[in-house]
Amino acid sequence: MIKFIRANGKLISTPAFFPDATRAVIKSLTPHDLADAGVEGIVINTYHLLFTPGSKIIKKAGGAHKFMNFKGHIISDSGGFQMLSLIHKSKKFGKITDKGIKLTYPGFKEVLFTPEKCIDAQFDLGSDIMICLDDCPGIDASKKEIDESVERTVKWAERCKKRFQENLNKNGNSTNRPLLFAVVQGGSYTALRVNCAKALVKLSFDGYAFGGWPMTRKNELDIKFLKLVSDNTPKNSAKYALGVGKPEEIAKCVKMGYSIFDCVLPTRDARHKRLYVFNKNPSKTKDLTKRSFYGYLDLGKTMYSNNKGPIDKYCSCYACKHYTRSYIHHLFKIKDSLAHRLCTIHNVYMYTTVIKRIRELG
Ligand SMILES: [Zn+2]
Repeated sequence: MIKFIRANGKLISTPAFFPDATRAVIKSLTPHDLADAGVEGIVINTYHLLFTPGSKIIKKAGGAHKFMNFKGHIISDSGGFQMLSLIHKSKKFGKITDKGIKLTYPGFKEVLFTPEKCIDAQFDLGSDIMICLDDCPGIDASKKEIDESVERTVKWAERCKKRFQENLNKNGNSTNRPLLFAVVQGGSYTALRVNCAKALVKLSFDGYAFGGWPMTRKNELDIKFLKLVSDNTPKNSAKYALGVGKPEEIAKCVKMGYSIFDCVLPTRDARHKRLYVFNKNPSKTKDLTKRSFYGYLDLGKTMYSNNKGPIDKYCSCYACKHYTRSYIHHLFKIKDSLAHRLCTIHNVYMYTTVIKRIRELG
């Protein structure tokens, strides 16, 4: 298991959990709040930023770090997943060709999003870790469609790598360079997953991400395929479990060799009054793969209206140090945005506490 990754001359400690700042913001938090909550990095989305405000505007601002005034690490997701989800939902949103993803999103002029455009945009964003554009098949795709998506994913990864190298040459700096990760597709077909992983490893990338849906149809972590991808990528390479997940799922993936994670859960749950609380002191928890070490608190419930305790007695985040359950319950009731801010700070702090504990346990 790797302990560090070097990207853009900076060391990223792993395992790492980066919350999703899709549109270059963790809703309601400032970069100061993020640093205070122990957040070391975030994931932004190339597709969303390409439209609003436009990757060129961010480039002119000096890159996403300066644009957001964020000093931590930044991973830019390609946005392929979001674009293809739209297309799989309805053909009116566009189509996939070997050239790239043709978007015909209503209200925008037609755009062809190619692997080259995807990499150029990520250089505009100045990300520390960039992700290749991949062809993520729909959840009900046939074996033939998944087979085609693997072939396209590998071809696109090769084009992404070529463009990545061209950008590096143009910038004239190869030591303090960003990293490029490829995405392994193949759905729930062992041979396709293995073939995709092996073809990408042959092309050689700085890291490999598990693409597609990481959950089974029963909504359980797809351990079989996550492990298969990890086992078929180099032992000492960085492995990214895209979109994973709940705290215990992250701990399980770490045991399989994954080192980077992102998920919308802690921030989205916070805005829906769903708080993560430890059942016992996390520094005493030995096994974080078991769901029993934490629970959820619904701060919208009337039973908390007069509760003077903090959200979590084991938490030292800003919200837990300074505010009561009673006050935050009141903020939700009057729909004040401070409730979102305090709860988001708490939930991301909980995740950073879990990550720290996983690192301690080694
Ligand atoms: Zn807290």
